[in-house]
Amino acid sequence: MTVKINLPHDNSYEIFIEELKELYFDRKVVIVTNPTVSGFHLEYLKSKLNARELSVCTIPDGEEYKHMQTLESILEHCFEKRLDRKSLLVAFGGGVIGDMTGFAASIYQRGIDFVQIPTTLLSQVDASVGGKTGINNKFGKNLIGAFHQPIAVYIDPSMLKTLPKREFGAGVAEIVKMAVTFNKDFFEWLEQNDLNDEKNIQIAIAKSVQTKADVVSQDEKELGIRAALNYGHTFGHVIENETNYDTYLHGEAVGIGMCMANALAVKIGLMSQEEALRVKSLLEKYNIPTTYKIKDVEDFYEHFFLDKKSLDNKIKFILPVGIGNCKITNEVSKTDVIEILKGF
Ligand code: NAD
Ligand code: MG
Repeated sequence: MTVKINLPHDNSYEIFIEELKELYFDRKVVIVTNPTVSGFHLEYLKSKLNARELSVCTIPDGEEYKHMQTLESILEHCFEKRLDRKSLLVAFGGGVIGDMTGFAASIYQRGIDFVQIPTTLLSQVDASVGGKTGINNKFGKNLIGAFHQPIAVYIDPSMLKTLPKREFGAGVAEIVKMAVTFNKDFFEWLEQNDLNDEKNIQIAIAKSVQTKADVVSQDEKELGIRAALNYGHTFGHVIENETNYDTYLHGEAVGIGMCMANALAVKIGLMSQEEALRVKSLLEKYNIPTTYKIKDVEDFYEHFFLDKKSLDNKIKFILPVGIGNCKITNEVSKTDVIEILKGF
């Protein structure tokens, strides 16, 4: 299956969702990966990838290494291998590898090409689409970065066989996000089909990628509709923050966040109780958490304002309208939010 991302300024590219085919690059290529991914899949990738000159840059595994120093080490590798402006970086790993490799590609000699070969479900359905790249610093996550589109994305669902179950669930949460906000038919299909099945996961990846691609094509720089992809994230970020990023995977926090957003949507009449329950049970099918004990509701509310997406002291909520539709609003009253948080 192939999904085309249509973007202005020659930035369009294709996403291939299938067993990895032979790739030929008549240029210098650097694969950026980590020990976990390379341990499982590097030989396989190397057996498919043909380059004029190939090297591998291995960086440590983990979100805690998604920072300036690791970025420097990637750039250093590029200089040592004398990459030029025609050379190519290959991001081979999850979203952390994708974001950092993409950012390195965006600044190495003012920008070179890169391709993504995402290996986690989350990066296959979400991080590999849309061209956001970046790193974290002490002020927060993804605060330094660039929009830099890959020239192609190769998604091979068979790589998911080695992925831990929890990581798989975290990816499913982002799939559910796309369905609830944009595609009712897809949501119903998800209710009826098991994503542990190889054929089904391929279909689900393609549908999610297509959904995100449509949104990104309309709004590459997140000036409008693209913000809807943050459904569940406004709440999720607070949860991640409160739990020091060490209790929940991002996708898991988003799962809880979607349930909170749904509660708010039910409260102000955008969604029925029954629809909210359907979302919850779909998440639970994949062991994605849907509840969270809030210690201090006022405190939780204050945390919203630390989010970079909360402009002008107004919280922007992405709320579902039924299933398959959504709305972006900063007109929700504090009383309503506090009330649903108390009842959660
Ligand atoms: P990750 O990259 O940390 O990968 C999760 C874990 O799975 C890692 O330990 C990794 O080594 C391991 N792994 C990867 N592939 C594997 C495989 N096939 N088998 C076994 N283990 C494997 O996390 P992630 O969830 O992929 O991505 C999260 C990151 O993506 C965050 O930094 C987030 O900010 C970013 N992100 C970016 C975008 C975007 O649009 N650019 C969107 C969503 C998330
Ligand atoms: Mg996310």
